[in-house]
Amino acid sequence: MSCCSMLAALFKKARSLLAPPPLKPSYSMDDGTALNTLYTRLCIIGSGPAAHTAAIYAARAELKPILFEGWLANDIAAGGQLTTTTDVENFPGFPDGILGTDLMDRCRAQSLRFGTHILSETVTSVDFSSCPFHVISDSTIVEADAVVVATGAVARRLRFPGAEHFWNRGISACAVCDGAAPIFRDRPIAVIGGGDSAMEEANFLSKYGSRVYIVHRRDVFRASKIMQARAIGNPKIEILWNSEIVEAYGEGKTGPLGGVKIKNVVTGEISDLKVSGLFFAIGHEPATKFLGGQLEVDSDGYIVTKLGTTQSSVKGVFAAGDVQDKKYRQAITAAGSGCMAALDAEHYLQEIEGRED
Ligand code: FAD
Ligand code: NDP
Repeated sequence: MSCCSMLAALFKKARSLLAPPPLKPSYSMDDGTALNTLYTRLCIIGSGPAAHTAAIYAARAELKPILFEGWLANDIAAGGQLTTTTDVENFPGFPDGILGTDLMDRCRAQSLRFGTHILSETVTSVDFSSCPFHVISDSTIVEADAVVVATGAVARRLRFPGAEHFWNRGISACAVCDGAAPIFRDRPIAVIGGGDSAMEEANFLSKYGSRVYIVHRRDVFRASKIMQARAIGNPKIEILWNSEIVEAYGEGKTGPLGGVKIKNVVTGEISDLKVSGLFFAIGHEPATKFLGGQLEVDSDGYIVTKLGTTQSSVKGVFAAGDVQDKKYRQAITAAGSGCMAALDAEHYLQEIEGRED
């Protein structure tokens, strides 16, 4: 047996037959706070399409999964990135599109329907050094024989003079969340980026702003053709190629955002752009800090998985969705890898159980 004693394995197996997950106030933090302790065969961390798909498969396989959905983890509502968008038009099964929040509400309901135990808590640390693994929030420790990490990714922000000061006073990273605010109505707005998010956010903001500028550092977009076409064809949108924002300044001495200084990266020329809103749409960072370096990650921080599987560098720990995918990053690919992670975890659990018998 690789990591647990025979006795411990038999004990765990007996506990796994119990439902709901057993609770014992055994652990305490350094400050003496007692944490509830639950046991599960499979713990899932995250609440986007990957996590919920893994939960649906695992729950139907009677693994009685416990899922940490987070409590505004990384400032994103439980449900993940799709809660920050409007219509999702490319998820199969919804020919008329579906609101991102509605899609995620349905995923959550489906996880619950098959018996997933959902904790609305954010995981703050993990211990993957020995079996059972430990997954820890501020009030709970989950002991698990296998873990699926599906914590997704977080919007990136730029640092330049004024960026911090005007954050939430004109500068944002979520057009859908903030774009309809009165401070942007009939005012010029800028969006930074050249991917699908930038196109989508610019189009969305054009409903509110008087003019929308897409500020992009290169002379070509990486966004999909259809999204580019929508932005380029929108008469309210203007594109500033080869451009970087170097400073944000206020309206008067104490007012909200009044404009930005833009540098042309080819000529070096600095120009002034009066805008009341500035939205970052420059990609995302995988949410892996809470792992404390216990899983192998690539140079951009994405969890490394074994080719063709969801197996991470620690046996029994699997990764699904955007946290391990910097190429496709779509709801459907996240859901697909969530399914793979649940199946991989199920096979792993069968394998260690076979060894324990
Ligand atoms: P995420 O959706 O990133 O969710 C992970 C969630 O897990 C987090 O948000 C948080 O709630 C939770 N979490 C994180 N850390 C912890 C923790 N430590 N403890 C507990 N919980 C935690 N894709 C499409 O296919 N179609 C679209 O139309 C589309 N539109 C998009 C629009 C926008 C504005 C954005 C930003 C993305 C869009 N995408 C779209 C991409 C899509 O949203 C993602 O690919 C998908 O949501 C990734 O799913 P995920 O399950 O990996 O994780
Ligand atoms: P991407 O990584 O695709 O694009 C990020 C953009 O930001 C790039 O154009 C990049 O420039 C630019 N950028 C990155 N860092 C900086 C920086 N420091 N300064 C200036 N510019 C910077 O991220 P998205 O969020 O756009 O998309 C993520 C995923 O979500 C994609 O897979 C996308 O398809 C998907 N998505 C799908 C949607 C849909 O289908 N409706 C909507 C939104 C997202 P450069 O190109 O020069 O590298």
